[in-house]
Amino acid sequence: MKKFTIFGNPVSHSKSPLMHNLTFNGLGENSKYSKTLLEDGSLIKSKFKELGLTGANITVPHKEEAFKVCDELDSFSKKVGVINTIVQKDGKLYGYNTDAPGFLKAVLLFNQDIKTVLIIGAGGTAKAISVVLRDEGYDVEILNRSSARLESFKQKDFKTYTFDNFEPKKYDLIVNSTSAGLQDDYLPAPKEILEQVLSSAKSSIDVIYGKETPYLKLSKEYNLPTKDGSDMLLYQGIIAFEKFTNHKYSFDEIENFMKEAFI
Ligand code: NDP
Repeated sequence: MKKFTIFGNPVSHSKSPLMHNLTFNGLGENSKYSKTLLEDGSLIKSKFKELGLTGANITVPHKEEAFKVCDELDSFSKKVGVINTIVQKDGKLYGYNTDAPGFLKAVLLFNQDIKTVLIIGAGGTAKAISVVLRDEGYDVEILNRSSARLESFKQKDFKTYTFDNFEPKKYDLIVNSTSAGLQDDYLPAPKEILEQVLSSAKSSIDVIYGKETPYLKLSKEYNLPTKDGSDMLLYQGIIAFEKFTNHKYSFDEIENFMKEAFI
C-alpha cells in the first residue's frame, strides 16, 4: 500500500484526506492518505522518510520550509520559493506548487471581468498566486499587515503596501490570502480599508474554505460575486493527485471522484 499525508499546523480542518481517499478508492488504487500535525517544519524530510511516504501535501505554515527540503524543483516552484506537494521518486523528493494552477483555474472559471487584482496577505499562498496571475497577464498588487514578508514581493517588482502606506484604488478582484478568519473571526485588514476597496471592486475571493469568513461576509454586503477557497482546493488537489499517480489518470477522471468530498 502506498502512503500519503498532509503536513500542517493546524491540520485538523483539512479536507485533503477525504478528497484523496475518495479518489484512491474510486479509482481502485491501493493507497491511503492521512493527516500529520507537524509543529517544526524543518522535520518534513525526516518525517516523510520515517512514515514511508510516496507523496505529501504541505499546508500552513510549512510551505516555504518544504521548498527547502526538496531534492528537485520545477521551474515555477523555483520562481516562487514555496511548494505544497512532494512526490518521492527513486529516493529523491520532487517539489511542486499546485496551489497556483489550482487558484488560476478557479479564477478563470469564476468568469468575471478581471484585469487588476489586490491580494491581501504575503504568505506562501500569496507568493504562489501573485506570480501565476501576473504570468497570465493580470496586474497584481499586494497588501499585508506587516512589512517583513513584503520584501520578496518587492524583489519581484510587485507594488506592495502595508496598512499604513496603502493608496487604495479601483481593483477588479480582491483576494483574501491571509489566514485571518481561518480559526478566528478577524478581518484580514482594517474594516475601513476593506470597505474602500470592496465598494469599487467587481468580485471577491477568499482562499479559506468550508466556512463563511468575516471577509466573505463583508464582500457579500457589497453585493459582489464571491467565491471561497473550495474550487482552489479541489483543483490543487486534482493536480497533486495527477503527480502522486504519475499522470495515470486524466483531470476529469480524478475530478469525478474528488468532487464527492464537496457534497
Ligand atoms: P502563511 O502563514 O504563509 O501566511 C499568512 C499570511 O496571513 C501572512 O501574510 C500574515 O500576515 C497574514 N495574517 C495572518 N493572520 C492575520 C490577521 N489576523 N490579520 C491580517 N493578516 C493576517 O499562510 P499561507 O499563505 O500558507 O495560507 C494562508 C491561507 O490560505 C490559510 O488560511 C490557508 O488555509 C489558505 N489556503 C487555502 C488553499 C485552498 O486550496 N483553498 C490553499 C492554500 C492555502 P503577516 O505577514 O503580517 O504575519
